[in-house]
Amino acid sequence: MSQTQVATENLVHVSDLVKDYDELRAVDGIGFDVKRGETFGLLGPNGAGKTTTMRMLAGLSPATDGSITVAGMDVAKSGRDVRNVIGVVTQHDGLDNSLVVHRNLEMHGYLAGLSYREAIKRTKEVLGFFNLESRANASIHALSGGMKRRLAIARAMMASPQLLVMDEPTTGLDPQSRNRVWEQLGALKESGVTIIMSTHYMIEAETLCDRLAIMDHGNILDIGEPDEVVRHHVGAEVAMLQIGDSATREERAALRRQLEEEGRDYSEVGPRILVTAPRGTKPDVSTLTDIVEMRVTYRPAHLEDVFLVLTGRELRDE
Ligand code: ATP
Repeated sequence: MSQTQVATENLVHVSDLVKDYDELRAVDGIGFDVKRGETFGLLGPNGAGKTTTMRMLAGLSPATDGSITVAGMDVAKSGRDVRNVIGVVTQHDGLDNSLVVHRNLEMHGYLAGLSYREAIKRTKEVLGFFNLESRANASIHALSGGMKRRLAIARAMMASPQLLVMDEPTTGLDPQSRNRVWEQLGALKESGVTIIMSTHYMIEAETLCDRLAIMDHGNILDIGEPDEVVRHHVGAEVAMLQIGDSATREERAALRRQLEEEGRDYSEVGPRILVTAPRGTKPDVSTLTDIVEMRVTYRPAHLEDVFLVLTGRELRDE
């Protein structure tokens, strides 16, 4: 699976991309580049436009406006050629339950243009790469959720694509299976494959992505390396204010008023109030501690904090 990695060359270029579903603008004029060999994440609440963006990228859904090029090819004009250099893993694995594991791979390779002989050879390679050799003859029903995800990724790699597009590759997996998928995505990246993936797991984005875009309502709110995005929006450390049980409703209200008056960046997570200091190191909460009895602890800021600051806390799709 070795491919030449040229870190500075853009493999994907997206500009002014729009998708309308009747009255709904699902993607609202976004643009980004993905370098060859990079792992690029799309993050955002439900309905943000991630899947729609990836479907357009993979040539599965036409854009309403704007352009996408992959490996120098315009997706709108050269859809078939573009599909030859992209492997797609959708949210639903789409495995054929009537075929055993190796037949699923061979059939996909064959449909992707490999000769029968090439498909058999390539199946052995990807089964080895994804540690699925011992399951070659297993029925799909006999696989665990984690194995099915790995098989879906293996299948997308059958035609040795330059770009792997994955919609939530580890949703629903237990931590062990998720780790296994991460290891294998790491190995694919090592071999030079460019990856675009969506995820709702901030730890997954921090672990795998070189850069990421945070989307909401069809727009990109920010784009950058995970560390850079965290520093920019929430600083280095987060202050966690744990209000004492004896605090009155008035004291709590006074604390919120003070936070608002001082123009603080804060979010309420369960019984705690998290205070962040964009571009700063450690938020100074000395003006807050006299208002109500509280315990203050600090922890390093992470992507989840950015996500809440940028996309708010209201529930989506409910
Ligand atoms: P999730 O995290 O829930 O997968 P997402 O960020 O992938 O969300 P999309 O699936 O791209 O979001 O949806 C963006 C918007 O477009 C949503 O409002 C959704 O309801 C709408 N949408 C998506 N597909 C269609 C479709 N085929 N027809 C009409 N509206 C659609």
